[in-house]
Amino acid sequence: MILVRKPKFELKDFPPKGHRLAHTVRSEEENWSSVARDYGFPDDPWAIIIYNFNTREPREVNWYLKELVGCERTTDGKNYSFSIGSTIYIPPEGWKPDYDELLRRAILTTLAMPHIQRIRLSIKGHNVNVSSYLRVANQVIDRAIRVRYDPRLKRSAKDFYDPVKNLFRFGWYYAPDVERQATIVHEATHAALDGASASDLVRRESEAAAYIAQSMFAWVAWGDGSRLGGASEGDALDTIFSNATEIAKAILADNTPAQADVDLLIKAIREHPWYSADHAKKVKYHGIP
Ligand SMILES: [Zn+2]
Repeated sequence: MILVRKPKFELKDFPPKGHRLAHTVRSEEENWSSVARDYGFPDDPWAIIIYNFNTREPREVNWYLKELVGCERTTDGKNYSFSIGSTIYIPPEGWKPDYDELLRRAILTTLAMPHIQRIRLSIKGHNVNVSSYLRVANQVIDRAIRVRYDPRLKRSAKDFYDPVKNLFRFGWYYAPDVERQATIVHEATHAALDGASASDLVRRESEAAAYIAQSMFAWVAWGDGSRLGGASEGDALDTIFSNATEIAKAILADNTPAQADVDLLIKAIREHPWYSADHAKKVKYHGIP
């Protein structure tokens, strides 16, 4: 089955303005990789795809291939393939995707997902719910919160929200799966608390809220009893997710989370090497102008 999704941000320009040339497919052997190779993007077929459709989301690429290019053939059963006569467009030499913009769209697309409506929690009187995420999304649209793709974060997996610069920084620029979408929810929770000027929170409390929201999102999105976890069961991060998920499940079932579970989550965060040095430090949530 070919997975398609109508993009939230539909293309305004197709063919893309300023293209170097229009390439018409002459053989069914051609694919994105061969075209990328032929036109000077040997290492990055996605550059050509993004140039044409301005997305890195495979389901949206399939949608455009069908709607704009008229593809109906598939060779792998998952994605549309070019047909003879299909036309795609070649970017100017040296063209590079706008990764920050792609990440910005991934964040906005995630914050508009229906699962977001299920998230609600309260930490020291600060409420986080669907309106919090809507506000964050609007701040991203207005560029009161900026967004940066930082490939150096790829290895450390330490994506973050910077409350001083009001800036999201991620080591990737597209979010096709629940893990990444849930990571966006985690960082957006920090941004929501910053927007709420929750400067009385300390780091471990802010992280607890973010992990609970992240776990709620994933629990709802998967809907099959799977939860987020660490690299291996029982590692420091897994302990955090295991405790956060217990709280997430209680809230989703309209129950008050058990204090013992909250204490366990706080303890797991305090003991995690990422947070142990500054878990008791006040966060710098002073509002987003
Ligand atoms: Zn965090």
